[in-house]
Amino acid sequence: MAVYADLHVHSKYSRATSRDMDLPHIEWWARRKGVGIVGTGDFTHPAWRRILGESLVEVSDGFFSLRDDLQLAGGGPGPRPSFVLQTELSLIYRRGGRSRRVHMVVLAPDFDAVDAIIRAVGPYGKLESDGRPMLSLDTYDLLSMLLDIDGRIFMFPAHAWTPWYAIFGSKSGFDSLEEALDDLSVHITALETGLSSDPPMNRMLSDLDRLFMVSFSDAHSPRNLAREVTIFDEKVNDYNMLINALRTGDGLLGTVEYHPEEGKYHYDGHRACGVRLTPREARELGGRCPVCGRPLTLGTLHRIDDLADRAEPENVDPFTYAVPLPVLVSQAVGVKSMTSKKVQRLYGELLKTLDASELDILLHRHIPDIERVDGRVALAVRLMREGRLDIQPGYDGEYGTVRVPF
Ligand SMILES: [Zn+2]
Ligand SMILES: [Zn+2]
Repeated sequence: MAVYADLHVHSKYSRATSRDMDLPHIEWWARRKGVGIVGTGDFTHPAWRRILGESLVEVSDGFFSLRDDLQLAGGGPGPRPSFVLQTELSLIYRRGGRSRRVHMVVLAPDFDAVDAIIRAVGPYGKLESDGRPMLSLDTYDLLSMLLDIDGRIFMFPAHAWTPWYAIFGSKSGFDSLEEALDDLSVHITALETGLSSDPPMNRMLSDLDRLFMVSFSDAHSPRNLAREVTIFDEKVNDYNMLINALRTGDGLLGTVEYHPEEGKYHYDGHRACGVRLTPREARELGGRCPVCGRPLTLGTLHRIDDLADRAEPENVDPFTYAVPLPVLVSQAVGVKSMTSKKVQRLYGELLKTLDASELDILLHRHIPDIERVDGRVALAVRLMREGRLDIQPGYDGEYGTVRVPF
């Protein structure tokens, strides 16, 4: 048996997030999606920190449950998820004569560690202004502080390849972990591939061989939870086991991934100019936009191409591609909006009739079972599992588009 974990989540206190990003809705949607371990998001935000303290009850070492009286009615078919104390920090600093902007996800074992982190990073930014606070702090200094506070605190680079705000991003990142973290780089053992890259792309770099690839949703609204997840063995039932899995690989079973083309930064281009290019086309243009002449935003494919030292990926981690069920349902019923009543009704009917979570339906349910609820959705799931989808790659902040070829 396996448990799906989503350890990069935001609360309603982060910029551009849904008002519904509160604990009851996160739990309610985690149960619909099939997520067994979910990040709290944003623990450095003072108001959210207070809510977490009032609403969560520790069920095993470092794993928390939402108070019974806060549960929403009619939760999904999945078991109630365990919450893990989690935040994302946005580091902005200068190193090597260049401006660096790097996002890091931090997991904490308990509220004492959370409060110590808040005290340590507080002087470097305005924690109350954003659930994902901007800090004028070097990644090296942050990691050094965290290690001093509690050896069980775990940090990993977020969406490692996106051009802005990522450790390996083309605009303001580094070429290697060692360049960013010197002697402390050994403490980084996991890398979030992000929506726009997948394990095979990352395994083009021998530099990353010692890292475990993880994937999470970076959800800004509850219905986006679990769009990517990492799979753990069910024996991972407390914080220490979780961190051990992320450090040693013991109990880490793989990931469920977006097709990287669906992500916002797979290809190169300029969104405002309507220019989408492959890395080869971008190189032939000298990295400049054919419309406005300014430097192109280089996506994950281009950036990995630049840094890769292998012709083919090696030692690729186990993973499965999946497309969110609401996307398949909306195309099955021929409605554009995934939040339309028609789509929501059929989505709810699928979960209820099959008594299964979204991930279970996408990955495991027999097609004939799904057919009994809706033939077109069953066909869409089958085509997805067979990898028969038409995908227009995303670029410069524009999501890719998936079409099911019915
Ligand atoms: Zn981020
Ligand atoms: Zn342009």
